[in-house]
Formats: sequence, structure tokens, C-alpha cells
Amino acid sequence: MRKKKYSYYFGDGKAEGRGNWKDRLGGKGAGLAEMTHLGINVPSGFTITTVACVEYFHRRKKFPAGMWEQALKHLKRVERSMGTRFGDPENPLLVSVRSGAQASMPGMMDTVLNLGLNDQTVQGLARRTHNSRFALDAYRRFIAMFGTIVLGVKRERNFTLPDGKVQKKNLFDGLFEEKKQKKGVQNDTDLDEKDLEELVGQFKRLIRQETGSPLPDDPYRQLRLAIEAVFNSWYGERAVTYRKFSGIPEDWGTAVNVQAMVFGNQGINSATGVAFTRDANTGRRRFFGEFLFNAQGEDVVAGIRTPLPIAAMARRLPVVYRELQKIYKKLERHYRDMLDLEFTVQEGKLYMLQTRVGKRTAAAAVRIAVEMAQEGLINRETAVQRVDPHQLDQLLHPTIAPMAVLKVIAKGLAASPGAAVGKVVFTSADAQRMSEMGERVVLVRAETSPEDIGGMHASQGILTARGGMTSHAAVVGRGMGKPCVVGCSEIQIDEEKYLFTASGHTIREGQIITLNGTTGDVILGDVPLIEPTLGKDFKTLMGWMDKIRQLKIRANADTPEDAKVARKFGAEGIGLCRTEHMFFEGDRIMAVREMILAEDEKGRKRALAKLLPIQRGDFIGIFREMKGLPVTIRLLDPPLHEFLPQTKAELEELARTMNVELSVLKAKNRSLQEFNPMLGHRGCRLGITYPEVYEMQVQAMMEAACHLTRQGVRVFPEVMIPLVVDVKELELLKTRLTDIAQQVMRRTRTRVRYLFGTMIELPRAILVADQIAREAEFFSFGTNDLTQTVYGLSRDDAGKFLPDYIEQGIFQEDPFVTIDRAAVGPMMEMGIRKGRLVRPNLKIGICGEHGGEPRSVEYCHQLGLDYVSCSPYRVPIARLAA
Ligand code: PEP
Ligand code: MG
Repeated sequence: MRKKKYSYYFGDGKAEGRGNWKDRLGGKGAGLAEMTHLGINVPSGFTITTVACVEYFHRRKKFPAGMWEQALKHLKRVERSMGTRFGDPENPLLVSVRSGAQASMPGMMDTVLNLGLNDQTVQGLARRTHNSRFALDAYRRFIAMFGTIVLGVKRERNFTLPDGKVQKKNLFDGLFEEKKQKKGVQNDTDLDEKDLEELVGQFKRLIRQETGSPLPDDPYRQLRLAIEAVFNSWYGERAVTYRKFSGIPEDWGTAVNVQAMVFGNQGINSATGVAFTRDANTGRRRFFGEFLFNAQGEDVVAGIRTPLPIAAMARRLPVVYRELQKIYKKLERHYRDMLDLEFTVQEGKLYMLQTRVGKRTAAAAVRIAVEMAQEGLINRETAVQRVDPHQLDQLLHPTIAPMAVLKVIAKGLAASPGAAVGKVVFTSADAQRMSEMGERVVLVRAETSPEDIGGMHASQGILTARGGMTSHAAVVGRGMGKPCVVGCSEIQIDEEKYLFTASGHTIREGQIITLNGTTGDVILGDVPLIEPTLGKDFKTLMGWMDKIRQLKIRANADTPEDAKVARKFGAEGIGLCRTEHMFFEGDRIMAVREMILAEDEKGRKRALAKLLPIQRGDFIGIFREMKGLPVTIRLLDPPLHEFLPQTKAELEELARTMNVELSVLKAKNRSLQEFNPMLGHRGCRLGITYPEVYEMQVQAMMEAACHLTRQGVRVFPEVMIPLVVDVKELELLKTRLTDIAQQVMRRTRTRVRYLFGTMIELPRAILVADQIAREAEFFSFGTNDLTQTVYGLSRDDAGKFLPDYIEQGIFQEDPFVTIDRAAVGPMMEMGIRKGRLVRPNLKIGICGEHGGEPRSVEYCHQLGLDYVSCSPYRVPIARLAA
């Protein structure tokens, strides 16, 4: 039997792996293999596959048989390629051990650098580089990293900084900080060999104290342990949280990349940096990035030193800069996408360490997609697919009103666009807690780390005092579409006292600030925001996507204003007008209550007569906005308790208007209370018991339609009956309502074409959909109620326990957000099949909340629906998803 291959070598222009084997090699491993094939200078190494990681967990954390041996064979090849030897005290090879999953999970898993150092090899490194300071610095970095990540020395304690402030630091960083303070220096580079040697000793003692064992000095043992630690980081807290938010499957596992170290901190001709082939914020076509001279990669990402813009390299290292430009162009042409690159310059020689598709803002995604198609790099279909529908939300985010008076108290880097208003919090835990209580918060941190991911998610925006445009906060904020200002050194944070100061102001926890992630401004107080306008690239892309999609997109809109927004965003009709929403406005509710609480038909008719002109006016407004497009009007649906008077004062006022005794009204009010209103007297059941309500609504609708038709406005009304379970309900209502419609048309001598259809939102309706289709000219799936009734889950109460279900993995996702493909989806499929059997041209749509959720939209397309209907702001998202 052939042995299973767990390790893939790359180096010297040859790679065993391929660029499209991301599932096996992870994104990083695949990128390294591909760059090697392209003849780009990549330090040699090998990738241990994701399969090995998955098997490691299956085998209760044991390496799969043969994996280690394959790794050792490849390590030998790396030695030959680099001309050094692993563990050789004279000329040691050092390696990095990095995670890399199939999907990018920036900073969520672990990495160990400078592995292979011990008391002997550090001397070899010093001799080879003629720089013992550098070698000792590499050693102390290695011990701290290995100690933290592999040996689990993660404890933190408070350290007092020179300015008296107290900061939490891990023990290694704390010792380092103390050393600098004792010497009275600020920069790491001011520590000399003796200091570093002392630090190495202190770090080693710390490991022995904290773990009870010494730092392993056998490089092979170090390597084994580091590979295990990287595997294990797949199930680290940060990684698990990140996967949950980004929908990455739990069972993918991570690959491990073991690669020869190159050093960006070997002096002034060395550097390390991160770059994007186009501007990740705006999408502009320009090489964009930042770097640090004499630094290791983690210095850039950690955001502790503020990096230089990439263009600054042209002056100091012109040859390297030109080469980097050549490489970025070559890679972008090859991958036909905007890339994110990591590189290191070791004593004037350029090495590429990573390439991957770059994260970008939604605005950048749109611009890059359109421009790349116009440049001929990709076709229009690809361009459309390059923009993630979820991400479009960002483009639709508010910005600061131009006339607003702003009290700007500080300015930082504009890392992720859009404006955010919220109460200041200083910890991720507080951000999560307060947002769960319904507060809008802005997270303020010195810098963020992957532990902050939950808090960042819970916040409206993020402000950090340190870090550059590629720091953790910037990259993650951008990916989440959260407005983000980073590197704002003008603010001084006191984490102990829960406050920050800027321009003489003290801002305490709970105070409101506004962030402008587009300009970097930090603004005092609550600032008015405005809705975004969508640019020319967006229009172009939307035009292309509309040519490709088959599914029609309608909007759920209840007022002329909603209809206007819907149309602006490209809705092709209204799929759901919840007429009852009009009933809550102004003093209408009193008339509605009067109707509900009336003793008899006469009383009801009196109240309905007040509602008729109002309702007609609403319909005229909506039809006019949607001229030429279909508008589905759903007749009264919600349980009556939603309209009943709640307070004594309301009851008293109603009793006066209706001229009845308060006690009579109270009794009536009580008699209408239901145990299970959602399953009670609602939907068409109201229309059956109180026919005059639906009759008034259809009369108003037809009068509005006839009125506009006479003015030459084309209207396409569709009457929709909610909560149907039996064809007889529909038959009865259809007969009565058709009669009303005919009367209006006769009276006004106008003809209006209209459809008569139903919502399908109960399991029984699905089972008898063939019968229902005899009467219904269209179906619209009400997946909110359908999900509620298929699951037997109250849509109003599920919020209390659904999070536990998701947390404990019982449900993968909230079925009220994404259509459940195990049961609700197949129910819909049955309804469609049965319906179209009887009426082949049956028009079918969906108007539940799922209609604007990208994965559900995709599913609706697969089911063969004619349209989806969603809230106006989600229309562009649905258009793209479709
Ligand atoms: C539904 O049930 O999916 C629906 C659209 O109706 P409502 O949410 O108004 O009950
Ligand atoms: Mg419903």
C-alpha cells in the first residue's frame, strides 16, 4: 500500500504542492507552493497537511503514522537547500512553525518563530551573522514565544510603566519591560548583549517556575511540540469564536508550515512588511502597504512600532523596492485578484513569506471587481462573484451628516470606513455585556488582540491608541465592516480607572463618542448620521449582476417612504405590504381599537369607515412609488392582542370615543386575551369572523388602484391572504372579496388586473398546497411563521434559549436567520411541487426574513422560486446573492 502523504516540500524553485490545494495545504501553504512554482524567492520549507491535523485529533492527539518521518525527511531537504543544519552548534538552521487553515483566520491560531535555538546553537548563529546581539535577541524572542504558545505560560500581571500607568502584561513581556526601565531606555534596540543574556536566563527560570520543567533544548523536541501546539490552536478559544462568526467548519483543521527563518532584523538593510496589491480601503489601483526596518514580522502585526508607508522603501532600498513591485504585479496578474503579501528583506535580499487574497472593505471590493473586469483581468460574472453579499452591508452603512457640528478631540488612522456612535467601553467583556443589554458601544483599547474578537463584534466601532493600518484592529475591523480608528496616539488610556483623555477632555466609561472610520476622527458625543449613497462602480456592478440573475427581488415595504427606498435600491416590486403596520401610525390606532372592541357589525363598520380613507391614501402612495411593478398587499394578519389598549388611560379614552361604559369595554378587552395569540385568532381567521375588515381593505386597495389607473399610472395589485390552512378559507374569502373588487371597478368604470393569492406559512397549508393552488394565483412563503410552526418554536420567545442551542452545537445556526434545509426547506419544496402540479404557472415567492439573507436567497433560487422579498436595505444584498 502506498504511504499516505502528510508533508509537501517547497524550495529552490520546486514545490510538491499546488496553489489550488488550499483544502489540503491551507491558504498559506498553497500560496507558498504557488509562489515557488512562479520562481519567486521563498525560503524553503514544507507544509504538513490539514488531513494530518484532523487525524491527529481523531487519534486522540497523536501524530498520524509516518507524518513525523516525512517531516524529518523534508527538514533534511531544507537543510541542504539553506546550507545549514538543524541543531548544528556551528551553523544552525532555524525554522518558523506557522498555522494556516483553508480559510484565512488572521491571528486566530499560533505561530512559533526562531525554533531550533538553544544555548549552543545561539552561539553558532552569533558567529555566522557576526552579530551576537542579534542572536541573543532572537533567542529571547524564541523563549518567550515558545514559553507562551507551546508551554502555556500565559499568566499576566500588572506592571507599572515609567509614566506611572499600570498595564497588564504577560510575564515575559513584563520582565522585558522591567529590564528596559532599569536601564532607563525606551527602545528594544537599546538593550545590549549583557541585558539580553540576563533576560534569556530570567525567561528560562520563569519557564521552570511556571511549568516545573526546563525549556527543552533539543531542537527536534522543540519542533514536535511546536507542531502539536499549532494543531491544538485549531481548537483554541479565539479560533473557535472566529469560526463561529465566519461560518468556517469545525472539521477542516489547520495545516502547519515549517519554513527556514529569514531575518528582517539583521540590521539597517533588513526589513519586514505587509503589502496589498491595491488599496484595501478604497480599492484604488496602487501598491499599498507598510514596513519596518530592522524588525521581525510580529513587530508589524502587533502594531507596537508605527510602520512606514511602503513608498518610503524606494529611497533606502531601491533595488528591493523595484523587485517587490515586479513581484506584486506578477502575482496579481497570476491570481487575478487583489493580494495581501508578506515579505522580509534579510541584508538586502528579498524573500516572500506569504500571499493570499487580500481582505478589503466592501467599497474596495466593488471597485476592484469593476476595475479588474474593465482591465480585462476577469470577466463580468467573476467580478459579480468577487463581492460577498454579506459585505455589501458595509456600503449601506451610515456616515456623518456633512453639516453636523463636530467636536473632534483626537485623530487616528482611518482604518475601516463608516461612522459609529456608542458608549465607551474598555474591555471586550464589557462590550459584549452591554451590547447584550441593547446598548450601542464603542470599544476603546490600547491595541486589540485576537482575544478581543467577541468584543469587537459586539461594538459599533473600534478605537485603538496604537498600531498601523495592518494592525490587528485594522484588519479585523475592516473584515467585520466595523468603523475603526487605529494608532490614535493622541488619546491616553487609563485601563485601571476606565477612562481616556484627549485634548484636555476626560472620557469615562459609558460616555458617548462618535468615530469616523473614513477620516480617523474621534468625536465627542452623539453625532447625526446619514444614509449612504452608492457610487458609480456600485451601479456598474449592480447592472452586471442584474443581467446574470434569474430570481426577481422585491421588497417588504409598508409605507410610501419604504417603497421609495426599496425602488432606489432596485426592488422589482413589493412582495409584502403588512397593512397592519399602517394601523399604528398617529391616531389610527384608536380607530383600529374601536373596530376590534366594537360589540357588533354596526360598531365595526363605523370604525372601519374612519380607516377606509386612510388606508386608501396609503395605497395610493405606495402604488404611485411602485408604478409599473407588482405590489402584494397582505390583509390584516397579527393576533388582535397586539392592538388592544394596554393602559387604563387608553381604555378610558376609548370608552369615551365609543360612548360605552368603561366596565363593558374592560370586559371585552379581557375576553380578547388569548393564551397562544400566535396560534389564535389571527390571519385569515380574522377575515372569516369579521368579513367587513377584509372587505374594507380590498375596497381601499381597489379604489386606490382604479384612481391611479384613471390617471394613467400602471398598477399591479396582488391581494394576499395570510395564515391559510385550508382551501375553503380561501374559497370563501375569494368569493366575498372578488365581489367587492368588482363593485369598485363597476362603480368607477375602471378595469384593474389584480391577482388573488395566499401566504404559505403553516405545515398543513403545504400538505394541501395542491388544493389551495386551485384558488390561489400565487404563493408567498412566510418562512417566519413556517419556521415557527415546523419547529414548534415561538418566534417571540426563542431568543431566550436559541443561543444555548447554537452554543452547544444542537443547531448550527438560527433557523430564523437562515432557512433550515433539513426540514423547512423540504417543506417548501413540497409546497412548490404540489402547487405547480395543479397550476403550472403559479407565481411563487418568499417574504419571510430569510428573503434577504444571502444563503437563503441562494437556496430559494435552487428551489425555483420566482422572487424573494426582503427589507429595502437588503435589496442590493439579495440582488447580488441572487
Ligand atoms: C412570515 O411569517 O414569514 C411573514 C412574512 O409574515 P409575518 O412575519 O408578518 O408573520
Ligand atoms: Mg406570517
